[in-house]
Amino acid sequence: MSRGVRAVVDLTALRHNLGVARAAAPASRLMAVVKADGYGHGLRQVASALLSADAFAVSCLEEALALREAGLLHPIVLLEGFFDGAELRAIASHRLDIVLHADWQLQIFERARLPRPLRVWLKVDTGMHRLGFAPGRVQTLFERLRANRAVSEIRLMTHLACADDRDSTYTERQLATFQAACEGLPAERSIANSAGLLAWPAVHADWVRPGIMLYGVSPFTDGWSERPPLRPVMTLTSRLIAIQHYRRGDPVGYAGGFVCPEDMPVGVVAIGYGDGYPRHAPNGTPVLVAGQRTSIVGRVSMDMLCVDLRGLDQVRVHDPVTLWGEGLPVEEVASACGTIPYELLCKLTRRVPFDYRDGEA
Ligand SMILES: *Cc1c(COP(=O)(O)O)cnc(C)c1O
Repeated sequence: MSRGVRAVVDLTALRHNLGVARAAAPASRLMAVVKADGYGHGLRQVASALLSADAFAVSCLEEALALREAGLLHPIVLLEGFFDGAELRAIASHRLDIVLHADWQLQIFERARLPRPLRVWLKVDTGMHRLGFAPGRVQTLFERLRANRAVSEIRLMTHLACADDRDSTYTERQLATFQAACEGLPAERSIANSAGLLAWPAVHADWVRPGIMLYGVSPFTDGWSERPPLRPVMTLTSRLIAIQHYRRGDPVGYAGGFVCPEDMPVGVVAIGYGDGYPRHAPNGTPVLVAGQRTSIVGRVSMDMLCVDLRGLDQVRVHDPVTLWGEGLPVEEVASACGTIPYELLCKLTRRVPFDYRDGEA
């Protein structure tokens, strides 16, 4: 226990959220996106709780190999394909799927001698403007891959840039571009991330690729009031290690980042940016102390931060503090910090102990 910092990961909630994704896109197969260490929740534990997914998606070979080592036999898609030709043999022998997004990859792939043919996801850039081939090249590339005996199957994919904005017409334009580019090609298709899955049924296609929603986080930036019925998976907690009583005008923390507007109690919580809590969290960032809502005061330090205890009279040293999760959506904390939940979840540091709970096990 010592400092009291821990990330509690609720694997039952994770499976519940997978069910929400399935129910929202019942006609599609589902590729669970577990890149970046399962969005910071622990790759193996997350994937092992999501065995009913039809496939997994990761960002690189190392992540895929960790899943194979954990005994998972599912299809695994490398979302950025391979980073150099040296990876290709391992990719083939571990039966991983590659995304092909660039000419340099195609050249290496066509020259490689592989132990067995691969499934290739041809990535089309329909407007994300990051990775992928221009829509006008898809038909030719498809024929070229089809003629290649190192390819066992071709699938088509694209990625949405603005699906979290329900008012934007950009998603519809990307869909139209994708459909036109892929017209007539005999291949399975995948378009939707979490936001596409929840807000744009027209993009469900053969495979959906939810990430953030599996972790219980709404992909929408327009507020958590109309949240989908997701349950938070990670709850980040710590404890109060001191309660101080300061006078009006007293500064709190480094550089006096907060000045007490009146005589007031201030709590010190054992968590800081050394644990991955964002240092740029401003005064007013929400936090729960013994289940009661209050906010941060002063600058976040490496190992500690301070909270406003005005009106929280029953609070004692060692009381639990929730930084985000159950009772305090990470969306709200991210919004206060001017960032997105994805970043907060991914950034916990190695000194935070993880506690996996599984109600159904
Ligand atoms: C990360 C990622 C996803 C999942 O996105 P979420 O917004 O987390 O649902 C889907 N597809 C690709 C290509 C990705 O890189």
